Amino acid sequence: MSAAQAAPATSPEAITVGNYQLVQKLGEGGMGAVFKGVDLMVEREVAIKMLRPEIARQPGIVERFHAEAVALAKLNHPHIATLYSFFRDGEQYFMVMEFVKGRTLESMLRQSRQIAVGQAVAIASQVLAAIEHAHSLGILHRDIKPANIMLTEQGQVKVTDFGIARLLGTARMTREGCLCGTLEYLAPERIRGVEADLRSDLYSTGVVLYEMLSGRLPFQAGNEFELMRAHLEKPAPTFAALGVRAIPERLEAAVAKALAKAPEDRFATAGEFRAALAGEERQQAATGPAPESWPFQPRPTVAGTPKAAAETMPAIASARTSRLRWTAYTALAVAALLGLILAFSRIGKPATSEATKPQPATVVAPVVTQPSAPNSPAQTAGAQGSQQQSANSPANGAESAVTNAGKPKPDSAAGRRKAALRALDKDASGAGKKTDKPRDRRSSSLEALKQ
Ligand code: ADP
Ligand code: MG
Repeated sequence: MSAAQAAPATSPEAITVGNYQLVQKLGEGGMGAVFKGVDLMVEREVAIKMLRPEIARQPGIVERFHAEAVALAKLNHPHIATLYSFFRDGEQYFMVMEFVKGRTLESMLRQSRQIAVGQAVAIASQVLAAIEHAHSLGILHRDIKPANIMLTEQGQVKVTDFGIARLLGTARMTREGCLCGTLEYLAPERIRGVEADLRSDLYSTGVVLYEMLSGRLPFQAGNEFELMRAHLEKPAPTFAALGVRAIPERLEAAVAKALAKAPEDRFATAGEFRAALAGEERQQAATGPAPESWPFQPRPTVAGTPKAAAETMPAIASARTSRLRWTAYTALAVAALLGLILAFSRIGKPATSEATKPQPATVVAPVVTQPSAPNSPAQTAGAQGSQQQSANSPANGAESAVTNAGKPKPDSAAGRRKAALRALDKDASGAGKKTDKPRDRRSSSLEALKQ
């Protein structure tokens, strides 16, 4: 019998896999779904990645995963989310990692676009410390991007997914020639198909730092072909040209060096890049906002009070207040319009039919309830990406919960697990699942570039 069993004793939706109980779906990335879980043996919160079946089916992938997991488990650094375990349960493979209570940098950037100079430098410096440690053990990250940089409530950086991109790359190699990593952050030499070295990670960190400082990516294009060309040929616009805000010269020079097209023109090591930021970090720490005012707290869950959120996250709170205000205006306008329509439709109709008519309030209700959505875990996960919104919408989640309740319960352990996973799924409706389509497009762009 499989070790995975539904665990009705804890909750009707609880599911255990090996020694872990899956609690909530956090999101979905290139490798599969990510769940928050609990290690039942030591009662520790963990993050669990469930490998997508098509990846797990690749010949040799599990052996490679195992080999890589042995290397990754050696990473031990305060700014790296530790890999705890990698195991198989039935047909499925799982990676267990340190659970980071916080937010991804991607979600922060989505919300506030720019980040204060001092905070941006402090984040980049911690990312570089993590990278430096991994490089010292011969491990490259290969997919540095805001979605893989998490920020804890204490303002501490935790880099996730070290080395994972290579595993995915190997899994997809047959189809696309191992152009793994996220194109917006990918170094030019990797676009050319040259094997990554540590300076490729520094380039990606440079892109992230540029984005935090300016609120936009250094290279943007309408399609992947143009984006690759920009990485290969175009200089990143200067901060002055963007007109966003004044960036200290030294800092701008460091970013430009990290973004050099040729690896030999970049910093030679993560430590060197970090040293170039150190002066700026000290300067900013002396003059910038205190760390406790940093907006690193996770988005409040439904249980979190808006008041507490407003106290800890002024920028977020003010954005939410204005959203609330606009939603209220919209609701009022819709209600007024419906009232008018109703009034006109009443003219000339017998009074007895009035009581049976649907009230406008029932139409307006979903509009009024919208402000609570950003507080929900589902919305938090949704902030990581929106491509799966329609497939995994809250409505779908609600529907599956309803239909599950009405159906006879699946009796096999696998069936029970499937049903439980579906139920967990509704927690992460709208999570940014990546499809393979952009990668297919990227493959053809790569071919075109090589010609
Ligand atoms: P991506 O390709 O966006 O990095 P992942 O599969 O790595 O996708 O992660 C999906 C989401 O799961 C992330 O955006 C993050 O919200 C959440 N997540 C991933 N790893 C962790 C972790 N160690 N702790 C907490 N949340 C995590
Ligand atoms: Mg990730």
